[in-house]
Amino acid sequence: MEKRKIIEVKDLVKQYGDFTAVKGISFDVYENEIFGLLGPNGAGKSTTLEIIETLREKTSGKVFVDGIDLDKDPGAIKKVIGVQLQSSGYYPGLNLTELIILFCGLYNEEADPKELLKLFNLEDKAKAKFKELSGGQKQRFSIATTLINKPKIIFLDEPTTGLDPQARRNLWDLIQQVRAQGTTVVITTHYMDEAEFLCDRCAIVDSGRIIALESPDTLIDQLVAGGFERKKEVKKANLEDVFIHMTGKALRES
Ligand code: ADP
Repeated sequence: MEKRKIIEVKDLVKQYGDFTAVKGISFDVYENEIFGLLGPNGAGKSTTLEIIETLREKTSGKVFVDGIDLDKDPGAIKKVIGVQLQSSGYYPGLNLTELIILFCGLYNEEADPKELLKLFNLEDKAKAKFKELSGGQKQRFSIATTLINKPKIIFLDEPTTGLDPQARRNLWDLIQQVRAQGTTVVITTHYMDEAEFLCDRCAIVDSGRIIALESPDTLIDQLVAGGFERKKEVKKANLEDVFIHMTGKALRES
């Protein structure tokens, strides 16, 4: 069966003054996949994401989200997407329950704060303020809030940067759960292990251009088929496995 394209980006260009940050990129995201934009810092990932999210003006090109033309109805796009706020977007005086109630009011949606917090393993933080949370908890809460307007697609910009290995793996599980419930996930990351674990397909972005777009498996197979060999024999575990084995999988963040 033909997969449905939920995002279509065609010849997207973004200039900041004389500098062209995004140099005519095209890609599609299919419904219900986890799609990754990978690349080094400055590659143009956030710019691309923010244009699709209607938060930044493009210079040229076309973007369709769930069939909606960005040039014609950005407001309609906002209704079908979930976007993470910067931490400054969370009113400092409100606790997590109050923030969820506030977002429900803004989106004109109903959600049970207790349920939502439980789903994201934050039930005992219901009365805490955002700034009192650990890094992993902040990320989990911010992903929870992207779901309040029942979006078809959520956008996660480097969701695990700065987290410890346990919190990262916990967040990966959570992102998979969100997808299992039918949501399409678009993620940017510069962690290749994260992309390999999570993404169905990923676009590698370098200096404003897409230089590859495949599943992680295919990308690796292509490299190997080209004669690539790792210098060192691959061990059956890595240092992160050692760390997780010694310090446990449980989250310790209180
Ligand atoms: P990435 O998310 O891949 O790290 P960005 O999209 O943030 O990359 O940035 C791409 C390039 O555009 C970088 O060189 C960055 O310095 C530049 N850039 C980003 N935002 C602006 C802006 N508002 N004004 C000027 N240049 C910008």
